[in-house]
Amino acid sequence: MKKIGLTLLLLFGLNACIQQPKDDGKIHIVVSFYILEDFTEKIGGDLVNVINLTQGGGEPHEFEPSTQDMKILTEAKHIMILGNDFEPWFNDIYDNIKSNDVDVLVLSDGFETLIDQNTNQIDPHIWTSITNAQSMFSIIKDYLIELDPTHEPTYTQNYELYNQEFTQLKAEYTDAIKNRTRNEFVTNHAAFGYLAQEFNLTMIPIMGLEPDAEPSATIMAQIIDVVKAYKIPYILYEDEANTDIAKTIAKETGALTGVLRPIESLNSAQVASNEDYFSLMRENLEWLKKALN
Ligand SMILES: [Zn+2]
Repeated sequence: MKKIGLTLLLLFGLNACIQQPKDDGKIHIVVSFYILEDFTEKIGGDLVNVINLTQGGGEPHEFEPSTQDMKILTEAKHIMILGNDFEPWFNDIYDNIKSNDVDVLVLSDGFETLIDQNTNQIDPHIWTSITNAQSMFSIIKDYLIELDPTHEPTYTQNYELYNQEFTQLKAEYTDAIKNRTRNEFVTNHAAFGYLAQEFNLTMIPIMGLEPDAEPSATIMAQIIDVVKAYKIPYILYEDEANTDIAKTIAKETGALTGVLRPIESLNSAQVASNEDYFSLMRENLEWLKKALN
């Protein structure tokens, strides 16, 4: 796929600015998954209308646009995706919409990427590093200012408020992880490579980059050996995914189970209780503390 980052956005950006505003006066932005929705709403507030294609517990890795989604994408003026092959469906539809008056912001452009050793695929989950998430937040702020320079003070003010919270969150992680007794944590979905890298931890994934990529019997036996050898106390998983194998490993090894969420989508209970990136990252930290001690 041809990646369109900020450079090309600048070319399209001017065009976007002279668009007739929609009736509600908001900037309408179509995004591919929850993190982009959360960050854009935090900065844009009432000035933006974010349409998340994988809302309501949808699984971004397995997303295929419906007819309704195709209509939304065809009519979109502004689209944000992560890139890094996180949205393989986008390659197919981009040819159909690229001649439209649309700009596409690819959030992962310019970030260093990790390669999964088993599959040689790019690990798309860059946002699980707090530093990366903070940078993505800044890129989205710049994007909104470019689309709507009149409201720059509002975007900047909202950005600064949350930017401090990223710094605070990172300090909480650094502080809590400092006194760990082990570096290894076992997780169902291989989504936390960037988090592991950020805090010098070692992620031992059970499944793969995609939550349904099941391990071979050999890999499973290796994981069981590692869990026993390192006396790893918790097997972590996201509760929305296929957790049978994680539970089996816990049973075989006597480990307990806990939760580690990649925050790719929110289920309805999380939406109802106003969870967001920060609350879920803090919940993840509580589980990590248990798992690393
Ligand atoms: Zn994932």
